[in-house]
Order: sequence, then structure tokens, then C-alpha cells
Amino acid sequence: MDRLIIRGGKAVLKDRIVEGLSLVCEDGCFSALLPSDKVVPSPSDRIVDADGLFFSPGFIDMHTHGAGGADFMDGTVDAYVTAARMHASHGTTLLFPTTLTSTNELLYNTFDIYDKASRANVDGAAFGGMHLEGPYFAKEYAGAQDPRYLRNPEPSEYLEILSRSDRIARWSFAPELPGAPEFAAELARRGIVASIGHTSATFEDCDAAFRMGATHMTHFFSCMSTITRRNAFRYAGVVEYGYWQDGMTLEIIADGIHVPGTLLRLILKIRGVDSISVVTDSMRAAGMPEGPSLLGGLADGQEVIVEDGVAKLPDRSAFAGSVATADRLVRTMIKDGGLTLPEAVRMITCNPASVMRISGRKGSFDAGKDADVTIFDENINVKYTIVKGNVIYRA
Ligand SMILES: [Zn+2]
Repeated sequence: MDRLIIRGGKAVLKDRIVEGLSLVCEDGCFSALLPSDKVVPSPSDRIVDADGLFFSPGFIDMHTHGAGGADFMDGTVDAYVTAARMHASHGTTLLFPTTLTSTNELLYNTFDIYDKASRANVDGAAFGGMHLEGPYFAKEYAGAQDPRYLRNPEPSEYLEILSRSDRIARWSFAPELPGAPEFAAELARRGIVASIGHTSATFEDCDAAFRMGATHMTHFFSCMSTITRRNAFRYAGVVEYGYWQDGMTLEIIADGIHVPGTLLRLILKIRGVDSISVVTDSMRAAGMPEGPSLLGGLADGQEVIVEDGVAKLPDRSAFAGSVATADRLVRTMIKDGGLTLPEAVRMITCNPASVMRISGRKGSFDAGKDADVTIFDENINVKYTIVKGNVIYRA
């Protein structure tokens, strides 16, 4: 039996921090979290000394486009592995490669690369499944999605896309488009997380989609409608639905720039920590020096400039993607969101695990779950990243 013991350090549990515990992992799974004097290592055990550090369940990023100079739409195995390694060096143990609105040809190529990259990826954050972001989005809230490829969900097309890969874990779409409720129902039937995003929907459109199985909202506050006025009448929008619907989970780009501290504290006050996850939604420049970069795939991406910790359009009129990494999300939620460390860690461990319906395997130290662990100091500088009991990154 292969055993890894993480000893010393402070365990970050759901609601508190406990010192003096050792985390025992056997054959890639958690087996016990015990007082350190109860754990007697054998000579064959691998030991990670976490003295003076914190250890938590591994960070899960359910919305990222790349990092380390690579984008998941680049169409190469190397891009996948490069991005996975860069995210691992910032504490991510599991990520969901996210596509951009594009041609179906590029999408199918990405499906193919995903499978090859999963086999080639030995020292990066693991891949949990694909997140398709688009192409069924509202033109007026396209954000960085290429408007040339936006369209309505047609069964003939999405059934074909769904038939091309069994790795689709999540699909983001606009619920107001013709055919969207049926599309949400189809995703729900297949166990794919149906997520609302890049949308001009009304409150009622969101409610119809929710009833058909859309359970999550993509980068809450960003690229979605709020209260609008038509003639003299006011209509509630997507943001208000996110405030109101208890069963709807939300995600936030917590780079400290896309959503200001006031709005972080507002949504935490309304919905509470456990309904909200944090995501990087990072483009390829995450983890890289600032300067010129490219948003989207190498083949048809657009030029952007990275400065002040965010990507901007060249004329600086709008943000063009986040360059956040997981460690930065946790720092932001503590500093700007006013959360404790265990609360901030929940937003990137058990909450995304629950949204992606993998709580049985990920998101906490419970015995039998995958031994994914992130070890970091008091400033959330990552020292070790461990996936299924293997140290894949060490600072
Ligand atoms: Zn995105």
C-alpha cells in the first residue's frame, strides 16, 4: 500500500482551523485525519512536512480558459498541459477546461485534444471535464465571446455536439434564447451542469430555465442583465434572479478587479458563503509577466494588454479576461470579501465540488475521497500541490 502522510501544519476544515493533526492518504485517497501522536509512520511512507503552513482540500477551478501562456482553444496537447501545470503551481488540483464560442470544427478538435491531454497530464492540475462557454449567448452581453459565432440552440446542432464527447461536464448558455429551456432540460437529463451566462434574460426567463434544470450562474455580475425599464415599467433581470432563487448557485471571478469588494460583500450577505464559488475565468496570461497577450485561441484570438493585474482591450475601454490564479481568489475573498480562511477555502473546494456534482469524490478530507491537497502559508503562497496522493508541485 502506498501511504502519504502530511504532518505538522494547520488543517483548514469547513468551519475551523485545527493544529496538531496529521492527514493520512492511502493509495491516492484520504484515509484519516488524526492527532499527530496517533500516526506512526512506517519506513516506506512518504512524508510531507507542513510545519508552519496550512493544508486544505485541493482547490477546484470550474471555469478557466488557460494559464502559463496557453489557452485551451490553442488546439494542442501542450497547451492543456502547460495551463494545468501553471494552475497547479498556484494550488489548483482540479480544473474544468473552458472553451470559447467558436466554430464546431475547433470545438470538436478541442474534444479530441482533451482526451489526449488527460493522458499526457501527469504533473498538472487534473481535468474534471469540459465546460463549454457558448455559443448560445445574447449578442448584447457577448463580452469577450466572438459575436460572429453566437446563435440560438437548435436540437439538430447541440445533439450532434453532445454526441461528440462524453467529457462535457458543464455548458453555459443564455436562457432567453428560443429553444433554451428545452436545451437546459436536455443538459439536465444527461447530468451536465446547465449554467446561465452572457445573458439579457428577464427574471421570468431565468425561472423557466431553472425549472427545466439550469442550476448555476456563470461569472455572476459579469455579462448579465439587471433591472431594465421598458416604456414606464421595470423588469427584474438575471442578477435579481441570482439574489432571489435559493436553489441557484453562483460563481464569481474573485480576482479583486472584476467584482469590487462592495459587491462581494453584498452577494455574500444575500446568498451566504455556501451558495457561491470562486473561479479564475483566467485567460492565457495567468501566471505570466504583464504586457501584450492574446485572448482566445492562437488561430483567431484578439490582441489584449495585461496591466494592473487584469487583461484589457488595447484601447483600455473594457476588461478582456482575468489573469487570476486560485491562490489570488482566496486572498481576495479574505481581504475584500471579509471572510475567514475556512470560509474562503470553502468557496474553492466543497462549493465547486457540489456545483459540479463530484462531492462524493472531492472537496473535503472525508475518508475515501481523492487525496487532493493544497498546502500554503498565511499569505496563501502555495508550497505544495498534491493530486491523488502525488506531489505534483513543490515551491
Ligand atoms: Zn469564461
